[in-house]
Amino acid sequence: MITSQDIKAAAKRLGADLVGIGSIDRWSTAPIQMDPKQIMPNAKSIIALGFRVMRGSLRGVEEGTYFSNYSSMGYGGITYIYMPMTVINLSKMIEDAGYEAVPMGHQSDWRAIDNVGFMRENYSRPVAPGKAAPDVMVNLRIAGFLCGLGEIGYSKMLLTPEFGPRQRIGIIITDLELEPDPIMEPGTLCNRCMACVRECPGGCIPADRTVKDNIGGYDLEWADVDMTRCDWTFQGGEECKEGEYGNYFDHVWSPGWKGKFKSSSISPFPKAPNPLYNSGKAVCGAKGCTRACMISLERRGVLKNKFVNPFRTQKPWSVDWSQEPHKVDYKAPYEGKDSPNNTKWDTKTD
Ligand code: SF4
Ligand code: SF4
Repeated sequence: MITSQDIKAAAKRLGADLVGIGSIDRWSTAPIQMDPKQIMPNAKSIIALGFRVMRGSLRGVEEGTYFSNYSSMGYGGITYIYMPMTVINLSKMIEDAGYEAVPMGHQSDWRAIDNVGFMRENYSRPVAPGKAAPDVMVNLRIAGFLCGLGEIGYSKMLLTPEFGPRQRIGIIITDLELEPDPIMEPGTLCNRCMACVRECPGGCIPADRTVKDNIGGYDLEWADVDMTRCDWTFQGGEECKEGEYGNYFDHVWSPGWKGKFKSSSISPFPKAPNPLYNSGKAVCGAKGCTRACMISLERRGVLKNKFVNPFRTQKPWSVDWSQEPHKVDYKAPYEGKDSPNNTKWDTKTD
């Protein structure tokens, strides 16, 4: 018989940083569109796997010099390559033992609810009465909480004792009965320091508006995060004022956004860069909900993943789009290492 210990050892071997297990009864109050039993009616357990976002993946955004690494290696690459491989390989082990395993190692872009939690209009219909509209999307952060990996912080991020807010979660739904892990007591890590509120560049995390729910028998409360605002802010966009025109998103598919957004002070790009690995487009580098929170938790010394040097070493930068760009004293032809005209090291890297 395959045990929780077997699952955990295999998950770590296969590349997960964190593994926790929750019994299906913990999802008894899940909304129908997020209910794992809608996907597997005889499910017994959920296995949550955590994949760390490298602290180094946030370095280039923190310095203001290298933005794509977080969106690729810390976001899209984990979500669409590294995590699915681990989740699928662990699922194979469960199915080899005669139990079914639903490998959920991605964000389900076909889900019937939008980012805010509302049903997408005219998108899909339930196939029978009592069934959810396709696709169901199990909330991955809450799954992390219900499987004992960590708690939901004020920012609505999953905070773990190992990495704070710095991980992505994949899950496996299975009819294999496994020994569950204890749920982490809310308030173990999040001390309501509100660094996430202060540093979110779009003011998307309100200090005075919260959501409360009883989940897995625990009373939880987190900020009523403005997900619509976060959607454009994290990509580096800022809403134009009345009478202004902005084309920050005009080249990408964003219905209703044409002409309405300009570059914000956390974006050095005049137009939004393309997504990396399908979903990675976090120009903001999760400034409030991840970087500020991580800095706060590291300063308090409550995280297990310790570093020799502090993450933040200078005042955060910002771009003033009303000013001319910073001048660089280029001399052409110029072969010094600071010159953009130095073609000795070309950009072809393959
Ligand atoms: S920044 Fe502070 S208040 Fe916000 S989630 Fe992290 S620990 Fe909680
Ligand atoms: S991703 Fe960026 S914009 Fe969205 S809540 Fe986090 S810090 Fe704010």
